[in-house]
Amino acid sequence: MLNTFSKLLKLKPTPKCADCAAREKYTLLNAAVDTLKGDFADETVRQARLAICQQCDYLASGKDSLMRADRCKLCGCFVHLKASYTNASCDINKW
Ligand code: SF4
Repeated sequence: MLNTFSKLLKLKPTPKCADCAAREKYTLLNAAVDTLKGDFADETVRQARLAICQQCDYLASGKDSLMRADRCKLCGCFVHLKASYTNASCDINKW
């Protein structure tokens, strides 16, 4: 199963512009593979990332949502989860 995910990760979409081609986004598929590998960031890194997100204009507070979790309006991720993966990165390179 891990091999299947690894093969899927090697498939690259046709780039539409130079910016997109230069930057590889961290996707749900990446998170699934990293979960299977157990590739998680340590708590210090996670907290540092979340502190950056808390200052960011793209952060949507989860106080009013059913999930009660903060989400990034740019990538749609739940930031407390995204920040937990070693290989994850902010789409606009804030962390
Ligand atoms: S992931 Fe990046 S863009 Fe999204 S809220 Fe965090 S710092 Fe802002």
